[in-house]
Amino acid sequence: MNNNISLSCPNCKQPDSVRKLNSIYEDDLTKATATIQSNDGGNSAGNKVAQPLLATSFPPPEKPVKPNNNLVYLMIITLAVGVYLVWSFLNISDDYSKVIAQVIFMPLWALFLTIVLIVAGSMQIRRKNSYHNQLERWQKGKLKWDKLYYCARCKGVFGQSENQFIPINQIDDYLYE
Ligand SMILES: [Zn+2]
Repeated sequence: MNNNISLSCPNCKQPDSVRKLNSIYEDDLTKATATIQSNDGGNSAGNKVAQPLLATSFPPPEKPVKPNNNLVYLMIITLAVGVYLVWSFLNISDDYSKVIAQVIFMPLWALFLTIVLIVAGSMQIRRKNSYHNQLERWQKGKLKWDKLYYCARCKGVFGQSENQFIPINQIDDYLYE
């Protein structure tokens, strides 16, 4: 056991099966890693990998992945190609081709360029906003998760300062309420 012995579960009113959730989770992960390593090292003699209960059933909220910059690169490349093409159109020496290029291709190209920049730009902004919302939600959930205690007898969690007991299948609702 560890240093949380004094804390009693609000459901069974007993302290003996209570442990901080994140310390159980870390123990589970250590055990899981050790099991995997021993399986890799020795030849697989039919060792059963003990599935850690907590690490798999209610892990800490997963941090959202930051969106990549692919759309920004796309915009930069499109813009660079655009500038190069406009420059080429302006430098055509043959008068007939020059007119065709400047009257037909340049406006079309400008239109295409504008559409790409607007669409990619607004998509990038949307992705950024959605990432920030997810990050905020994650931070809130993770903060709550870190403070939870688990009662192995009642199979549920509770916060140190709250009297509310949360069965394991309702943890998500509690974390993001
Ligand atoms: Zn309990």
